[in-house]
Amino acid sequence: MEILLAKDMGFCWGVRRAIDIMEKAAEERGEIISVGPIVHNPQVVQELQEKGVRVGAKPENDSRPVAITAHGVGPEVLDEVKATGAEIIDGTCPIVTRSQRWARKMADAGFTVLVFGDPNHREVKGVLGWAGNKGVAIREGDPLPHPFPARVAVISQTTQSPEKFSEFVSRLMREHVSEISEFRLVNTLCNVTSTQQSAARELAQEVDLMIVVGGKASANTRHLVEVCSEEGAPARHIETAADLEPDWFRDCRRVGVTAGASTPDSAVQHVVERIQEIALQLEAARAPSA
Ligand code: SF4
Repeated sequence: MEILLAKDMGFCWGVRRAIDIMEKAAEERGEIISVGPIVHNPQVVQELQEKGVRVGAKPENDSRPVAITAHGVGPEVLDEVKATGAEIIDGTCPIVTRSQRWARKMADAGFTVLVFGDPNHREVKGVLGWAGNKGVAIREGDPLPHPFPARVAVISQTTQSPEKFSEFVSRLMREHVSEISEFRLVNTLCNVTSTQQSAARELAQEVDLMIVVGGKASANTRHLVEVCSEEGAPARHIETAADLEPDWFRDCRRVGVTAGASTPDSAVQHVVERIQEIALQLEAARAPSA
């Protein structure tokens, strides 16, 4: 059985960069506190904790440095940390920083900032913070503000799909062009999601089975499963190597592996090793006995 890996998968460069910044800071300063988990993956959080990166609220009068994850935070969080006198270790992804700056600039210029994305997502919450009381987050299909603002600046959560963002902008224009006097648009989309989806799609066309590694709660991993299924390849969503079932591989000649953006390389490595073991067992079971 041949095992093929997607050309692009797992942690994006923004998350890898934030992890490097945090690990280095913890090594140099002893222990640091991260504002929320770097990714929603318990193994990664545990590994970082062992290296001195603790997740959680900072107790009062605690002088340990505070790390900001790749998703970034709003200015109110930064002000709170600064007020405690703690050092800030900034792991915000540069693409997110750009969104934040743009949101603030537009809000300061008097525009209403519409953020296409999930209002409960950490990145969006942070960007809305930078837009002050001028920011509104809107998901696909959500009602648009009423009355509609005359001066509108539009931005997107970095991981939204380009197609959906473009549909959203078309909808604004279709439904409200007559009310808009000034319109600004900045592309803050990150191509990591679409590149990983394209790589999964390409691989799914070549294999008998796709294994998608990532948290069950990870929207990005679930999208990868959908993309693979659209190509006609049966796709199995697993969290760890322990979830693999030998029966899935019985008639497989080629197996593809991809992983969501919060999956560490080590988890993928364990999955590949387990598939190799299963392949050997199946081969041994098929071999005629002497
Ligand atoms: S913007 Fe892109 S590169 Fe940056 S953290 Fe998000 S997914 Fe990763």
